[in-house]
Amino acid sequence: MKCKEVMTLFSEYYDNELIQEISSEVKKHLSICEGCKSEYETFKKGVQLIKRLKPLDVSRS
Ligand SMILES: [Zn+2]
Repeated sequence: MKCKEVMTLFSEYYDNELIQEISSEVKKHLSICEGCKSEYETFKKGVQLIKRLKPLDVSRS
């Protein structure tokens, strides 16, 4: 699996929406590829930030 493919699957991978086969491919790639690993860490932080901010926005409006 190529880095570009892996990166397009981050969202589905994070939400456990991938089929087992693809999910384990992504997992395998993340364990061997430093670039994608750090990209995924950045992605996760972004998602967690959004999830934290959303309820706040709702209560404020
Ligand atoms: Zn990669």
